[in-house]
Amino acid sequence: MTITDEIKSRLDIVDVVSESVQLRKSGSSYTGFCPFHPNTRTPAFVVFPNTQTWRCFGACAEGGDIFSYVMKKEGWDFKEALKQLAQRAGVELAPQQPEDKKRRALEDKLSDLLSGAADYFHQLLLHAPQAEAVRQYVTGRGLTKETVALFKLGYALDSWDACRNHFNMQGYDDEDLVDAGLLTLNEEKDTRYDRFRNRLMIPIYDASGRMAGFGARTLDPDGLPKYPNSPQTAVFDKSRLLFGLDLARRYIREARQVVIVEGYMDVMQAWQAGFRNVVAQMGTALTEAQLRLLKRYTKRFVLALDADAAGATATLRSLEVAREVLDREADVRFDARGLVRHEGRLQADIRVVTLPEGFDPDKLIRADPSAWPSLLDQAKPIVAYVIDIATDGLDMHDGKAKAAVVQQVLPVINDVVNPVEREHYRQILARQLQVDERVLHKVAVPTSRKRVRAVGQPVEPSRTAPDSLESVGLAVAIRGSTAASEMRRADFLRQCLAFPHLISQIDKKLAIHQQALITEADFTRLDDKALWRQIRQRPTHWPVATMDDLWDSLDDDEYLRERVQTLLSIPQTPESELDRLPDRLVLSVLDWRLERTKSLLSEVERLFRESQAQENLEMLELYGQQLRELPSQVRSIDRARGAMSATGRRQTKEHRNMKRNTVRGD
Ligand SMILES: [Zn+2]
Repeated sequence: MTITDEIKSRLDIVDVVSESVQLRKSGSSYTGFCPFHPNTRTPAFVVFPNTQTWRCFGACAEGGDIFSYVMKKEGWDFKEALKQLAQRAGVELAPQQPEDKKRRALEDKLSDLLSGAADYFHQLLLHAPQAEAVRQYVTGRGLTKETVALFKLGYALDSWDACRNHFNMQGYDDEDLVDAGLLTLNEEKDTRYDRFRNRLMIPIYDASGRMAGFGARTLDPDGLPKYPNSPQTAVFDKSRLLFGLDLARRYIREARQVVIVEGYMDVMQAWQAGFRNVVAQMGTALTEAQLRLLKRYTKRFVLALDADAAGATATLRSLEVAREVLDREADVRFDARGLVRHEGRLQADIRVVTLPEGFDPDKLIRADPSAWPSLLDQAKPIVAYVIDIATDGLDMHDGKAKAAVVQQVLPVINDVVNPVEREHYRQILARQLQVDERVLHKVAVPTSRKRVRAVGQPVEPSRTAPDSLESVGLAVAIRGSTAASEMRRADFLRQCLAFPHLISQIDKKLAIHQQALITEADFTRLDDKALWRQIRQRPTHWPVATMDDLWDSLDDDEYLRERVQTLLSIPQTPESELDRLPDRLVLSVLDWRLERTKSLLSEVERLFRESQAQENLEMLELYGQQLRELPSQVRSIDRARGAMSATGRRQTKEHRNMKRNTVRGD
């Protein structure tokens, strides 16, 4: 898979376009007003989820894929679009800058070391005599051998230097081990010792399956903390990782929903029972970075909270106070206002469900696997959940208590972005409290940023998704390009690289036959589009050393250079055929345009029938107009092609005659 395919497979064009264009579902596609030309009457902009493409049937009359959309929308070049979308998709690009390379090398080194450590701990768990108790513990928790192997559970010996010695022997020095979080450094005494001792080791991978760190469960009943994690390292940042995501990704997509639980055991138990769209946060409130990570796979999140988590920090009646008292580092696992704001920003659907008292998902699933899906069915939108908890068992005769509930719940409601939804919750709250809804509008509640920060967690800037991405647009053109057409395009570019002076002749011929000049829209591959822009930017009369020149201008653009290299492997037209090359290339252009227009036409015919079935008059008008225009485009290209071929045949004849005459002349 190429890097662009990888990125496309992880992003949904509908998501990306929706951030800047209001889309409406219309049959199998989505429609909206085109962001690229002024229009307010007909929604002529269509997004096709099946092909992950977009098309404007209005003034622009063009389309493309997710890359072309963001490039057009944001004015990015291919390289920037690649960078931004790769970041958004969580796809690693080859390092381009020396610092990046250095950072990547360090991360790779740490990841390799941590993978080695996971293997080392896993072998100990399977075979070490000292690991008997932990083996029993794992079996006692109901985990099968397959699950232990899949999650590569391990055991850290009860020793201060076993791990250190093992990896020192393998050539890693103490500094590496400290960087990876395997050794703890006591700076005062200048000593190092194994961080994890006598623990069940749970490897934590990032979304792409790269080893990042460990969760480690203490086996000593009095041992605290119960689950120490790896410390923050170059590869371990628990606010940006979710346990189990590397395995759960495809199942989250399939289920169109992700379930977020609190513990490693919960994820493993759910997995074992066949519920595979489950990930665990690691002892912190969900961060925006984590939600963004998950949003690559689904928009629908269900938080399954232990009753005590919901209780301890989220007994909402005392939440406000608790927040002010709690240290920021404290274990705030449920942050209702933060979640509502994330939900609005991410256009996500976040729901919450509380487990029955005394149960966590692990225990619940072991007791009765069928209880899990029925529990998830009861998940409620955050605000509804908050209202329920806050009003649960409330004394309806206690005016002060009611006022306190309003003070706690209204700020959450006010954070809801959608006004209809906001009003809906206000009504529910009024009904639950048996007060007139109009009163709620008069209640002053804290809204200032400062206040919000004081009661919530600090707003975390999102490093994965720069603000510019909030407004990223989307879209792609209808594909419909055959391998033969792609070969024609490649050959076209290849010959233009070799004989750039012919481009003006090609343009002239197209103009004579009333055809549009070549633009990047003629190409389907993004690198080809970018390359064509580069070629076009060159002076019309290139010096002979054009190739070197172009090569230099591609500078550090590895992707384009790679493409140019591939193109250069296509045979160059021999000089003797040069006089006929422009005609051949023009014919190529006409061929691929014809193919594309025909394929577009048949797609529009399908959409027209779909709109007919739905009696969607607006779309019928749009597609109907296309059905009138596209056939005339086909005819026009056909005509030009016919004329060109005729000229070609005549010229070939003349060429032959000329050669014959020359021979005779000799
Ligand atoms: Zn348009």
